[in-house]
Amino acid sequence: MGRTVYVNGEYLDEADAKISIFDRGFLMADGVYEVTSILNGKMIDFDGHMVRLARSLSELEMPTPETNDEIETIHRELIRANGLIEGLVYLQVTRGAADRSFLFPEGVKSSLVMFTQVMNLMESPTAATGIKIISIPDIRWGRRDIKTIQLLAPSLGKMAAKAAGVDDAWLVEDGFVTEGTSNNAYIVQGGKIITRDLSQDILSGITRSAVLRFAREAQMDVVERPFTMTEAMEADEAFVTSATTFVTSVIEVDGQALGDGKPGLVARRLREIYLDESMKSGT
Ligand code: PMP
Repeated sequence: MGRTVYVNGEYLDEADAKISIFDRGFLMADGVYEVTSILNGKMIDFDGHMVRLARSLSELEMPTPETNDEIETIHRELIRANGLIEGLVYLQVTRGAADRSFLFPEGVKSSLVMFTQVMNLMESPTAATGIKIISIPDIRWGRRDIKTIQLLAPSLGKMAAKAAGVDDAWLVEDGFVTEGTSNNAYIVQGGKIITRDLSQDILSGITRSAVLRFAREAQMDVVERPFTMTEAMEADEAFVTSATTFVTSVIEVDGQALGDGKPGLVARRLREIYLDESMKSGT
């Protein structure tokens, strides 16, 4: 027996879970997703993920597959059935199965798939050491504010990082950093936390929104504006945020060590606050 997963109304063993070859997620990457992290068996910021899911669906005129209450119930059932303590719940909605056509099919039920994945989030290998990044051109499409399942560009980016012997890549467009391959990007200079402002150019991270709120509450200076890789290389420190990495320090950018080459104070403090608050507010 493998994991229990959810596919279109059914809880199944992962070996028995099936999706049509006509599913538009499979044929056209016509789908959206969410990843909710689980700590101590509790969901972190579930409501935030549901708000973003609703927005992604509505931007793509994709029907909502289930009510939020039902989606929450499925999350809880998968956590329970799989005894998940730490890791994530992955959710994917696609426009469903129909004969191949570029036009959206009418009257087709969207498809909903969910599964759990065990992961060491709190004591991840990079939490203590930080990560090294390189910069690469941002070759993604123009609606990065929608969390779609077209992930080949970030996948190529992570492979380029691996080939360069580092952990991840930051994406650059028109001379400015947009974000990381799968995270939001920040630099810290002269006590100011600088991160790109929200637009269609980047994903509105659920972790970004919580971390910026905590930073402001702790009287830290936050500036939302684009920054360059030159600024990043001269920064005091840098970090990334995402649901599964929380706040993770960046200790090297394009071969340049930041500060003393160890995780910086601001990133360490924000990670601590984020984890404390998430433990308290997890549902
Ligand atoms: N940007 C991109 C491109 C991402 O893929 C992710 C993670 N899915 C994020 C930012 C961070 O978003 P969140 O904090 O909601 O995980």
